[in-house]
Amino acid sequence: MTLVAAVVALALAVAALVLVLADVATTSADPVNEAQKLASPPAKAPGNGDANGGGDGKGKQPATQTGQSLATASRLYRTGRLADVNCSPGALPAGSMVAYRRFLTRVTACLNKAWGAQFRKARISFTKPRLRIITSKVHTPCGAWNTGADGVYCAADRTMYLMISKDQLRNPFPLGITRLIAHEYGHHVQQVSGIWRYYWTARAIAGKARRLQLSRNSELQAECFSAVFMSTMKGTSLVTDADWAYTVNWFRKNGAKGWPQNDHGRGPTQAAWMTRGFNRGTPGACNTWAADPRKVT
Ligand SMILES: [Zn+2]
Repeated sequence: MTLVAAVVALALAVAALVLVLADVATTSADPVNEAQKLASPPAKAPGNGDANGGGDGKGKQPATQTGQSLATASRLYRTGRLADVNCSPGALPAGSMVAYRRFLTRVTACLNKAWGAQFRKARISFTKPRLRIITSKVHTPCGAWNTGADGVYCAADRTMYLMISKDQLRNPFPLGITRLIAHEYGHHVQQVSGIWRYYWTARAIAGKARRLQLSRNSELQAECFSAVFMSTMKGTSLVTDADWAYTVNWFRKNGAKGWPQNDHGRGPTQAAWMTRGFNRGTPGACNTWAADPRKVT
């Protein structure tokens, strides 16, 4: 009796394991899985923090249109200032995962509203990304979690994965986490608009130097999109002039340190695109694809 029960339990366990493996095998079949890191500034003064890594996964693009113009001449660039949705996600007190979830859910709702309006203006159909807040590594359809990562956008399941570390929980920096989620959202914008369709197509046939350049185009644009969103909250208690200046300076000094290769741009280049997006407040300011290559170094 107990032996039978044990055998049945074992058989069920094996069946469950096979299902999990089968799922992983089908969903991770995408051709590229490039782990990309994303540094975030620490909440405290510069110099004492470690750069939290992060990553961006990728996914397949619907094959309706191809060509460089998807990226260099996206209709999103002609939609004017990003809609100000009066985003006020509230406070982010230390030590509460419930508060973190509420805060990030509210920021995501703001991003959905603001970018949704922009896509309507551009007459591009829009779908929202999913948000998953995690406290330990997960396996995404875009691959295994990158060591030290704290943010990933996976286009295969259109999900933003945000890892909240113990340190972030203890010592939250609301502007920092908002900037990070807005960056991951920027990749979703690239995905839905078709910009990434060009990116991943071009990347597939590029040599190493060109691949790095394309990666910088993509990352610097996502960072600029993030800054455009941040600019809609300029002067609020979330985005004070001092905190924004601190963040841009942190990226100028440290933004490139997390990467062995120059796939996100040098620190000063990152700071320049952040500043440009923040000051102009329009997606059109973020056309890294048509910019002078000397500005995408
Ligand atoms: Zn990124």
